[in-house]
Amino acid sequence: MTDLIIRGRNVVLPDATEARSIHVRDGVIESVKGYDEIAADCELIETSESFVVMAGLVDTHVHVNAPGRTDWEGFQTATRTAAAGGTTTIVDMPLNSIPATTTLGAFKTKLDEARNKCFVDVGFWGGVVPGNTAELAAMLEAGVVGFKCFLVPSGVDEFEHVTEDDLREAMPELTRLNALLIVHAELPGPIDGATPTGSSDDYKTFLDSRPRAAENEAVELMIRLSREFGTRVHIVHLSSADAVPLLREARADGVRISAETCPHYLHLTAEQIPSRSTEFKCCPPIREGENRERLWEGLAEGTIEMIVSDHSPCPAQMKGRDIGDFLAAWGGISSVQLRLPVVWTEAERRGFSFQDVARWLCENPARQVNLESRKGTITVGHDADFVIWEPQRDFLVNAAALQHRHKLTPYHSERLKGAVRKTFLRGKKIYDDGAFSPQPLGLLLV
Ligand SMILES: [Zn+2]
Repeated sequence: MTDLIIRGRNVVLPDATEARSIHVRDGVIESVKGYDEIAADCELIETSESFVVMAGLVDTHVHVNAPGRTDWEGFQTATRTAAAGGTTTIVDMPLNSIPATTTLGAFKTKLDEARNKCFVDVGFWGGVVPGNTAELAAMLEAGVVGFKCFLVPSGVDEFEHVTEDDLREAMPELTRLNALLIVHAELPGPIDGATPTGSSDDYKTFLDSRPRAAENEAVELMIRLSREFGTRVHIVHLSSADAVPLLREARADGVRISAETCPHYLHLTAEQIPSRSTEFKCCPPIREGENRERLWEGLAEGTIEMIVSDHSPCPAQMKGRDIGDFLAAWGGISSVQLRLPVVWTEAERRGFSFQDVARWLCENPARQVNLESRKGTITVGHDADFVIWEPQRDFLVNAAALQHRHKLTPYHSERLKGAVRKTFLRGKKIYDDGAFSPQPLGLLLV
């Protein structure tokens, strides 16, 4: 018997936004019917014309940092802030936790840490670091969705970056396992060669220290290696739009490479960043307005398939806001909760549709981590994960009201459009206008 019906005038389906009723049974979408086809004997949630019903967001780039650096975030706060932003699935990054997720034993330690704390579903990336090729098969078997590596120092000692030689060892094994390799694509050479001369109070000095060439050359390297070894490769948090044509041509040529970008690269610009405002620091950096527009073109043409948060928190003192030194501050922006409104604010003014946004925030991230048979679209048989939001409602971001552990954010006092009102996970309401489910109902997706 149907347990729940959610109906709305604007239900975002894979190829249209239409008036529909969604019937849910045992946490799964049982049917998607006409707006008026409702049963009398089950709970009915009605949404008016001003609301949109969309599949729950999937965010495959979240740094939870636990165990080991739980004071940076942790599973409870990370998944609450996700739920408040309409996200029903996150995938945790393998670094910043101690131990880093680079061995089977470390992965088990992380699962023990996450268990019974999660308000949304959580998947896990493993890591490729020098010398751990022998661990990869066992980690994949135990349930990681794929593996991340860094081509530059990651910022933490326990997650070492890889060289081309290391990749030549790991990639044949990844190909054999048909595992996805996701890559922080900046190369040390152009960064070491950059010699910014300005004051470290100025954002421009930091921007000059992480030139586009570091990204462009890293993307070229990964295209070359993916072509040679046949490994599926994905470029995380692409910031340099100069790399978009490289990716487009490689894909047209059959190279199995994909890319994501992040809300901050699509919304903020280097020109607007005030001096000493280290809350804007992330790596690779937020670049110029001209670059931002070309990232949007990359999304429009499909070369960049998805937008994920790269939610990357740390304690406030590590951002050094009182000192304002861009070169010394920790890089990272916490934004899993604001991903939908930041993206919608920019997407709407460029004429993109709800389907476009759902493809970038839900469907394509789900496919990236092999969850497309149960997450990412409103489809019969999928988990009944939904976000109900108001696209025309604008609001002022109040950092103190955000749900992540440390509140410093570059979005404070910004007016954004698109307010998340309710979030459902497998048919259960986990977020309702500021209130959360009393119990964490998320599952570990392993
Ligand atoms: Zn990241």
